[in-house]
Amino acid sequence: MTDLSPLPLVRVEGITKKFLHEGNEIEILRGIDLEVGQGEMLCIVGPSGAGKSTLLHILGTLDLPTAGRIVYEGRDVTRHGSAQLADFRNRTLGFVFQFHHLLPEFTAIENVMMPGLIRGIARAAMQERARALLDQVGLSHRLSHRPGELSGGEQQRVALARALVMRPKLVLADEPTGNLDSKTSEAMHALVFELNRSLGVTFLIVTHSKELAALMPRVVHMVDGRIDRDERRAADPAPAPEARGELPVAAGAAGAPGPEVGATAGEGDMPGASGA
Ligand code: ADP
Repeated sequence: MTDLSPLPLVRVEGITKKFLHEGNEIEILRGIDLEVGQGEMLCIVGPSGAGKSTLLHILGTLDLPTAGRIVYEGRDVTRHGSAQLADFRNRTLGFVFQFHHLLPEFTAIENVMMPGLIRGIARAAMQERARALLDQVGLSHRLSHRPGELSGGEQQRVALARALVMRPKLVLADEPTGNLDSKTSEAMHALVFELNRSLGVTFLIVTHSKELAALMPRVVHMVDGRIDRDERRAADPAPAPEARGELPVAAGAAGAPGPEVGATAGEGDMPGASGA
């Protein structure tokens, strides 16, 4: 029988993670099975210490599981060597962390261009992509500002543009609004939904934010290294662009000559991206 169902973007099977701590083995992930579809929006919630960040790092191939498989579009990446993994990350994933890890001595546009420059993509092409994305996140008036000259919310929007600049299929975000005030967080949440709609990028977000979780069509609850509940809501209650308040995403973003989803690479090996 031929299976005609589309491949999930990523499927993890039987993931466990153990750490040695002062000679004792502790099991942080205790058998995680999870499937994420192309273009999905989901968040992972749960008490501190439940293993959310560890799972996110494993999904991002920044850390290896003790056992289990991670299968992206049918390919088992747990069999990849480190060079092949780095290449896979570059092509497929973008990362956003609570602390943005922007390079302080570079401007906003240079920070966004950086993942491409590192990979040898022509400066002019990266400049164009970065400019379009910064426009899309409402920062076209801040291109030449350095991170220290930007607000926390603006810095995080630059980090989001940087995560998207290599046209990843999946953006993995760990507490992306954990460091922002509630109004700025709200604008950031709306922006993420807008980017999901306009670019088709899948977002998987670890968050403590009840406000963000309430907007998500899918909420995975983790407790003590296991998935306790995988909650799906029928309707997508994401805020409409006009309800987003202060964040001016460029008009016509959906058809803009911005990133085509999954065309080339992700920013997995950005300086700072893998060290968080
Ligand atoms: P969460 O993101 O849900 O708060 P984490 O995934 O960060 O949880 O951590 C889960 C548990 O794993 C925590 O108790 C943490 O102390 C432990 N842990 C994480 N990384 C390591 C490590 N490298 N060595 C030992 N224990 C670790």
